[in-house]
Amino acid sequence: MAQPRIIIVGGGFAGLAAAKGLSKAPAEIILIDRTNHHLFQPLLYQVATSILSPSQIGFPIRGILQNQKNTSVLLGDVTGVDKDKKCVVVSDSDRQDVPLSYDYLILATGATHSYFGRNEFERFAPGLKSLTDAVATRNKVLQAFELAEAEEDPSRHRDLLTFVLVGAGPTGVEMAGALAMLVKTTLKSNFRRIDPASARIVLVDRGPRVLGSFSEHLSEAAKQRLENLGVEVRLGDGVDQIDADGVLVAGERIASKTVIWTAGVAPSPAGKWLGVETDRAGRVRIQNDLSVPGHPEIFVVGDTAALAQDGKPLPGVAQVAMQQGRYAGKLISRRITGGKQPAPFRYFDKGSMAVVGKGFAVLQSGKVQTSGLLAWLIWAFIHLQFLATSSLRLSVFLQWAWTYVTGQRGARIIVNHQATAPPGTGSGEAVRGAA
Ligand SMILES: Cc1cc2nc3c(=O)[nH]c(=O)nc-3n(C[C@H](O)[C@H](O)[C@H](O)COP(=O)(O)OP(=O)(O)OC[C@H]3O[C@@H](n4cnc5c(N)ncnc54)[C@H](O)[C@@H]3O)c2cc1C
Repeated sequence: MAQPRIIIVGGGFAGLAAAKGLSKAPAEIILIDRTNHHLFQPLLYQVATSILSPSQIGFPIRGILQNQKNTSVLLGDVTGVDKDKKCVVVSDSDRQDVPLSYDYLILATGATHSYFGRNEFERFAPGLKSLTDAVATRNKVLQAFELAEAEEDPSRHRDLLTFVLVGAGPTGVEMAGALAMLVKTTLKSNFRRIDPASARIVLVDRGPRVLGSFSEHLSEAAKQRLENLGVEVRLGDGVDQIDADGVLVAGERIASKTVIWTAGVAPSPAGKWLGVETDRAGRVRIQNDLSVPGHPEIFVVGDTAALAQDGKPLPGVAQVAMQQGRYAGKLISRRITGGKQPAPFRYFDKGSMAVVGKGFAVLQSGKVQTSGLLAWLIWAFIHLQFLATSSLRLSVFLQWAWTYVTGQRGARIIVNHQATAPPGTGSGEAVRGAA
């Protein structure tokens, strides 16, 4: 008898965990991703600030699953699902809209940035979600220092050396801290005509505190730390306008050639493909066995799914995605083999952490709340554990140790420098216009 076919869409935290949970299942498993790599998104800001290189946080999915003989990996973009015919529609650079049938489907397609309806901001304030985004941000930041060093008119240095981060959640806070360390240590002695340490880093959020999902005490500790690093923290007012010359916050213009969007996220269009109920953000409402109501063969997991536990929606974090992926894999595996069905899914919250510059993190886990070096060491240990392979763990550990001791960051190559010039500085605009 033919084995059932399980299609997993997405090789992020949830999809990969699902695939691993099915490693022993008597089934044909096909994992489809639009990129060829699994990406460790929590360290994207380290690529954007030159601490790590892209290949240290991304790893080919087929390499991770090379020993899993029941699983094939396909590079393709899923553009739809036909629930009645039980197939997904896949396109790649060679073939368009190819239907691929399934017996079970796991959608783990994650999320992207949300500009809260102001999509015109995207051109001037790119987000941080993929390796392409991280490298583009790195180029933009490094390019700003290069342009300032070459600029004869000192009055233009201020705009070039002002960096605005919009959104003071974990990504904004971590990015601001890493940028502050970059200008104070790594770049400090590299320039002759400008002082990189004079760069202005502004973190803006309309909320009343940074790291709003942490306790007030830890939020305050993170804010204090940012301010000690020289970051200006502007809370209580959102950004009303973003353009080539900077941002407008509560009527005040902050002139800047480098604005980075570190605010909201929006789920993938999985809900539209399925034509099922979603929450207000567009995440698919799933049942407590992670399946879609009325479709016991379709599971939606990770950032693109909405599930409440004890009356509260589960957060869009890697732990939720991994635990859900693992659960869906186990449930399908047992269904195929006639085993006992697992109890309804329950998320086990191990806690949250955020780094603020060198040797400092905040950590909240149950009743434990701490900040400082110990929290940072725990953060480093846990993040190393969750990297996809031992080679990445070793490489990132050595890089961190080197950067910690010397302050040096190796990944400071500007790739495609003309295309990444800040808006309004001439060359980048010309390249875009000519394209
Ligand atoms: C900058 C940043 C920092 C973060 N920091 C933390 C942190 O410190 N701690 C934490 O717990 N969480 C953090 N998160 C959140 C965490 O990364 C996500 O919750 C997690 O990645 C969700 O996993 P997922 O599998 O649902 O989605 P993802 O990991 O995003 O994976 C989705 C996968 O689906 C693929 N895909 C999407 N659409 C398609 C399609 N149409 N066809 C084919 N493939 C597709 C994508 O290429 C991707 O590989 C951070 C996120 C970001 C962006």
